[in-house]
Amino acid sequence: MKVGFIGVGYMGRHMAQNVAAGGHDLTVFDIRKEAADELVSGGATWGNSPRDVVNDSEVIFTSLPRPENVEEVSLGEGGILNGAVSGKAFFDLSTTDPSTIVRIEAAAREKGMAMLDAPVSGGTVGAEKATLCIMVGGDKAVYEKYKPVLDLIGSEVMYCGGLGSGAVCKIINNLIGLSAGVILSEAFSVGVKWGVDPQTLFDAVSKSSGNTTAMRGFPDGLFSGNFEPGFQLDLAAKDVGLATELGRSLRVPMEVSNIVQQRYIAGQNRGWGRLAAGAVARVQEERSGVEIRTS
Ligand code: NAD
Repeated sequence: MKVGFIGVGYMGRHMAQNVAAGGHDLTVFDIRKEAADELVSGGATWGNSPRDVVNDSEVIFTSLPRPENVEEVSLGEGGILNGAVSGKAFFDLSTTDPSTIVRIEAAAREKGMAMLDAPVSGGTVGAEKATLCIMVGGDKAVYEKYKPVLDLIGSEVMYCGGLGSGAVCKIINNLIGLSAGVILSEAFSVGVKWGVDPQTLFDAVSKSSGNTTAMRGFPDGLFSGNFEPGFQLDLAAKDVGLATELGRSLRVPMEVSNIVQQRYIAGQNRGWGRLAAGAVARVQEERSGVEIRTS
């Protein structure tokens, strides 16, 4: 099958690579041409624009930072929908909001193209190993038709319901995981300031009810002062913001989530947006005067 991929950053490059390794013909585009170098030297075709990718492909995937990027790549000049698309399908793998998806899908449908939301969870390691969870919303028949391609990207491909359902599942997941990151930083700072060794705290909590995925990243991240992304703090701030916006739009009170959002914004304001999301703990380290590191 001819597959197009737009946005080959930390996540997209691995997902595209796995689709190509599954035997599909790949055409790629990224606003930073160099991001696609490895894929192109491995046999992928470079498209000069999203339109070029669409012309070459039956199914198109996007993995872009923010809703506005997905909107621009879809609806903008030279974008996916700026030409003939009838009979093709478009899966957005980015973490976006359901209202952006609904807007783009309406424009796609008018031109005979199917569009589904299909955000992913599992990080760059999951992207590389093709063990991602993919949360798909939209037309079930289209989902089933292209599921064999999605199976090359993730090991947990799930149909979540109508259009936007995948986006909502993903936003809720990230709100939970990223909130855990903030409470963990407060909890560990108080334990370490009292005098317990961070590794001992980690071991105790690992065997207890406070164990979370966010904490399992500590040995390779916070404990060793390694904030190399992976998943950038800027994108984490975006995701918590998508959740609080969704809450506002539905008039759901979310006091705690809004406090969590402020902590990620504080991390951005320190200039740490391009660091790993786990760098949010540094805000609490500064405030508490304690570093959560193992020797
Ligand atoms: P990234 O910034 O590394 O990659 C995004 C890519 O899109 C970049 O290469 C960028 O150059 C490109 N891009 C931006 N605007 C573009 C445009 N207008 N046209 C073409 N290309 C454009 O981000 P990422 O970490 O790969 O994340 C991608 C998406 O996946 C985000 O929505 C993120 O929230 C989500 N996500 C990330 C992770 C993770 O661990 N990194 C995990 C799950 C989901």
